[in-house]
Amino acid sequence: MPVYTLRPAIQHYAWGDTTTIPSLLGMLSSEEEPWAELWLGTHPMGESKVSTFPLSGILGQHLSFLFKVIAVQNALSIQVHPNRQQAKEGFARETAAGIDLWDPTRSYKDENHKPELLLALNDFWALVSFRDFQVIQEDFKKLQFPSLLTQSETLPVFFQNFLSLSADHFDFPLLLKNITQAQQQHMDKYWWIQELFRQYGKDRGVFAPILLNLVHLNKGQAIYLEPCQLHAYLRGSGIEIMTACDNVLRLGCTKKHIDPQELLRITSCESKEVHYVDAKTEGPLSVWTTPAEDFELIRMDVNNELLAYCRSTSAEILFCVEGTLQIKSVLHSRSLVLKKGSALIVTAQEPAIHIYGKGVVYRAAIPASMSVLHSS
Ligand SMILES: [Zn+2]
Repeated sequence: MPVYTLRPAIQHYAWGDTTTIPSLLGMLSSEEEPWAELWLGTHPMGESKVSTFPLSGILGQHLSFLFKVIAVQNALSIQVHPNRQQAKEGFARETAAGIDLWDPTRSYKDENHKPELLLALNDFWALVSFRDFQVIQEDFKKLQFPSLLTQSETLPVFFQNFLSLSADHFDFPLLLKNITQAQQQHMDKYWWIQELFRQYGKDRGVFAPILLNLVHLNKGQAIYLEPCQLHAYLRGSGIEIMTACDNVLRLGCTKKHIDPQELLRITSCESKEVHYVDAKTEGPLSVWTTPAEDFELIRMDVNNELLAYCRSTSAEILFCVEGTLQIKSVLHSRSLVLKKGSALIVTAQEPAIHIYGKGVVYRAAIPASMSVLHSS
């Protein structure tokens, strides 16, 4: 059988909300336990299952991508991911140093780079890549940050100086007072600094909203993050697709391991516009394509029609967020039900599948692997 029902892995990280993912899965939520991420893929830190079997065992290999639903209540750490070269070097270095793969001080868990695409499922706030250096400096001067920062001449020097200062070097009472006075509107960068301070206390990461572009996404908007870009997700829920990679360097707003030297080495210290990704929509299909070769996200809006498509030679994941659909393999006569909150793996042996019913399905795959045969 080339199509199987897939059971996700759930990550109960402390920053998650308690309702979004349980209600998507049709489960009762417990107010105490956060449900931060739902993972579909073969990553060893949270591998999906077919019945009781690990997905990689069924496929005979690992998937190059990882599909997630994320539900952010409190901000994630201010972080950056490596490119391929940096990941290979970092992985080799930490392995040679004898740091165990599961050691919390280990930053490189694999040799993969980590570009990522985030699609908002509701209002979503994020911090993404450096703002214009002049603007950062003007804000830092206005708010009376330490002179080491306000007198830095270039962004790379400024960022190096920023990382050289521990939280003790920042006069939090003075800065927060100045920030309160500067606050202009609800959920602007000053509001977020106060909110991050409320969540994480005296942590230099709380000033990230001055360093990075504050992004508000409406439902259906997406952004792409290439490796080496500093970023953080602040609030909201979304679908995330990325390479199957768990290499993270953190600046702050976390209790996890921080390695400022390595973060500085791999971060791209240049101001950058936010990379919004518009879906290309044709009939029932919307496709988000990015420069990453490892993944592509497709939404299928099926409305009581028969949708058939042929596939690439790689396996892919289907996840339903609305309605109920029948999925039929062309190799086998048996069909499977895909309803809200459930997922399927379509293996590489399956040349094409038919979908009918009414609902919305997200599909994670390797790019350019689909062509619609007919939709009627
Ligand atoms: Zn990230």
